Amino acid sequence: MISERYRTIGDRIDGSARKAGRTPSDITLVAVSKKQPDTRVDAVLEVGHRVFGENRVQEAQERWQSRREKYSDLELRLVGPLQSNKASDAVAFFDVIESVDREKLVRVLAKSMEEQDRRIRLYIQVNTGQEAQKSGLVPDDLEAFLKTVRESYQLDVEGLMCLPPVDEPASLHFALLAKLARDNGVEKLSMGMSADFETAIAPGATSVRVGSALFGEREART
Ligand SMILES: *Cc1c(COP(=O)(O)O)cnc(C)c1O
Repeated sequence: MISERYRTIGDRIDGSARKAGRTPSDITLVAVSKKQPDTRVDAVLEVGHRVFGENRVQEAQERWQSRREKYSDLELRLVGPLQSNKASDAVAFFDVIESVDREKLVRVLAKSMEEQDRRIRLYIQVNTGQEAQKSGLVPDDLEAFLKTVRESYQLDVEGLMCLPPVDEPASLHFALLAKLARDNGVEKLSMGMSADFETAIAPGATSVRVGSALFGEREART
């Protein structure tokens, strides 16, 4: 049952927070609903959860447009890569974009927010494992990029996000992301997924992105 899994994940977040001397309510569960059937998503809405992550703009619009009207307190986060030509749609639709990773995208986001008179919250994705196939800035480029975002575009950066390599201990990447945030005056950390969200809490995750552990395995379609 999804409602039981939901409760268990909440308990695990709370337990890890207490163990780390942190306040459980400082950690937000982002339910990553990409490629999940609507029935499962509705089950999670029914237990009262309101913060969801999606990785594609169009899929998110299709699923959430009507639900947005029904649940006015939804918070939708884009956690997947964003093409510049979809940035305006993303600004119109999401509350948070977690995958900011290049100046061209920042330029379009800034312009779209201005045009739509809408401010959304931004996270910078850091490719902590420096993997060629992954999006995100390499750690060495973060400081200069943050300066550009803040000074040239006058945008606040709420947090940093990472997606560690599957074949390395995630804890090293979580520690690195936390250090980068501290060194650069960034407040929040989006890190930890189904397999490792508890590990992300001691180093400082303020949100964990959990998909399959909550909803079950995703559909194979892409
Ligand atoms: C799919 C996805 C998740 C959730 O992954 P699970 O392992 O199913 O919890 C989290 N973050 C991002 C960026 C994702 O694309």
